[in-house]
Amino acid sequence: MEGKTWLALLLITFLLLITLDFSSRKLENQVGAGVFHSRHFTITYENASRLAVRHLAEGLEEAYQRLVVQHGFRDGQHTWNWKESDPPPETSQIYCYRSIAAHEYFHTIQLLGYSLKLADRFLSEGTAMWAMREVFPRHVECYGRLLLPWLIGGTDVSTLKLLYPGHQAGLFWNFISDHYGGAQLIRSLFEHPDIRLGVGWPKALEQLTGKSFLDLWAEFVVALAARQVPDAKWLYHGPEQRIPYVPVPIFVGEWTGQALTIEHGNWENPYPKICTDEIYGGACLSPSNTKLSYLMVRHPYGIHFLRIIPKSAVPLTLQFAGDPETDFRVFVVAQTPSGAYESFPLARGCFILDPLAYMLFQVVVTRGEKGSGNYQLVLQELQTDEHPPCR
Ligand SMILES: [Zn+2]
Repeated sequence: MEGKTWLALLLITFLLLITLDFSSRKLENQVGAGVFHSRHFTITYENASRLAVRHLAEGLEEAYQRLVVQHGFRDGQHTWNWKESDPPPETSQIYCYRSIAAHEYFHTIQLLGYSLKLADRFLSEGTAMWAMREVFPRHVECYGRLLLPWLIGGTDVSTLKLLYPGHQAGLFWNFISDHYGGAQLIRSLFEHPDIRLGVGWPKALEQLTGKSFLDLWAEFVVALAARQVPDAKWLYHGPEQRIPYVPVPIFVGEWTGQALTIEHGNWENPYPKICTDEIYGGACLSPSNTKLSYLMVRHPYGIHFLRIIPKSAVPLTLQFAGDPETDFRVFVVAQTPSGAYESFPLARGCFILDPLAYMLFQVVVTRGEKGSGNYQLVLQELQTDEHPPCR
């Protein structure tokens, strides 16, 4: 054949391929009903696009492979009904269907594999969020927003106990999984006889890690202040575009060398103004008005962040005085000019010789089950050797 004929043939083939690709994509996006079979799953769908169903199936297969085959979790459900709400979602949202499928599949593992009651949302939703990240660790934009309320909304809300809300608990389980044995820890927890009925998981966690739940919680709380929770880079960046301080503090002040007694919150939580924004997953809580109220960690495991910026070189003593019935855990999380974080436990008091060696102190306060949670914090010039250095 002549060169021109070859060229014409090539061009026709090329156009044909483009048309085929275009029409198959159109077909993929067309909404309809049917049955989709993947290797281990059957999805009956309605009002859904082929693309959405294919992503769901991929998510279920990947979750089955990672969680059941690789990590040894008991099996979940293999037949699924999927009905899309109107109107069908954008293609960008469909991208997240794989990690959503991993989340939902994990709920069926909880129910069918372990007979866990779903009433304990901290455990059921929190570990389903963990499963999303475990199966699709790079899809942080698909699950990250549901983890944000504690960072942007505060944690000690007036009406809800901290260990009640659901999805944001994923942040805790991601942290615990990263530090205490990964998927095998979560699986051991599910297999622990004490949580068979959805009760007593903090006790089971204590047995598995060898630490009290309050101590584990305190480690998590320090990691929140020091930006050492999993996916921190992504999680803190978005909210910081909208609110001045993340995590949201209850008090903001300076060390000027003058004595300062902190008894009230002075920072109004901006969360009510922004929490309706759907980018935060609509996970709104109703925060207490912390401004000018006495310092009190209302609920067990509530967390307060107090931000103090050093402006004076005068050596500083930090003193904490709390209700003696309350089992507080208090830490100073200090940030150096290089951006690194150091953390020190603060029992009754400690001193810092060179406050200007730091850019910021966050005093982080949490507590266990007992007591009222009332406390105050005093900053003053170092005068006696009553307290040890902060370290
Ligand atoms: Zn869920």
